[in-house]
Amino acid sequence: MLRMQDLSKVYRTHMIETHALRGLDIHVKEGEFVTVTGPSGSGKTTFLNIAGLLEDFTGGEYTLDGVNVKGLDDNARSRLRNEKLGFIFQGFNLIPDLNLFDNVDVPLRYRGFSAAERRERIGQALTDVGLASRMKHYPAELSGGQQQRVAIARALAGSPKLLLADEPTGNLDTKMARSVMELLEQINAKGTTILMVTHDAELAMRAQRNVHIIDGYVSDLVRKTPSLLEPE
Ligand code: ADP
Ligand code: ADP
Repeated sequence: MLRMQDLSKVYRTHMIETHALRGLDIHVKEGEFVTVTGPSGSGKTTFLNIAGLLEDFTGGEYTLDGVNVKGLDDNARSRLRNEKLGFIFQGFNLIPDLNLFDNVDVPLRYRGFSAAERRERIGQALTDVGLASRMKHYPAELSGGQQQRVAIARALAGSPKLLLADEPTGNLDTKMARSVMELLEQINAKGTTILMVTHDAELAMRAQRNVHIIDGYVSDLVRKTPSLLEPE
């Protein structure tokens, strides 16, 4: 699904070079649920942003679902991003002035689906996260856990192959965090590959596989499901 080889990222600001990633190697197979942990500043967000085609890399190779990302122009990147990826963030990033239906519709509008297909997808996605009855509600009328469920519905409505999550439970209490994690596990069980950055050690260890990043390297791999590791 995702393969990075010797990937590096250097930020150059005010004549200072910051090596955020220094030769990262990772291979995420289709259907895996991989958590990413590491100290603050170790490169987790940079890694996720590059994986999500939100940020460029400096060196190495990145292949996403068989597509070599290097050399793609902005249009091709956007298309790849819209077709293959879904995103969820710590802060939910819902639009306060739009009701839940319209929030979930936002990424679908870039996809060229008919109005009828968009309606169908929005209804299904909100049903999948248990919020179909709240379509007309606004984000501020929901709890944090419910808002994150809407964000998950928005990410899933386009049927992404890979879901990228940056600290999706970071703003939630333990109980809500567990329930969001359970929802992500159900989504993964239905076939969506998930890559999730988290500070929560308990959640990190629940996943099939945990990748630990230190100083821009993958320093450690805890792999729990040997069957997923056999060569393709
Ligand atoms: P985390 O991912 O640990 O929650 P952030 O991604 O917000 O935290 O930031 C991680 C580190 O990256 C911090 O040390 C922050 O100062 C630095 N950082 C983030 N964005 C920038 C930027 N645009 N310019 C310089 N440093 C940045
Ligand atoms: P993490 O998410 O693990 O906290 P980041 O990926 O945010 O780490 O940051 C990795 C390193 O890259 C840090 O040293 C950070 O300060 C630096 N960094 C991140 N974003 C920028 C940026 N936009 N400009 C300059 N440096 C950055």
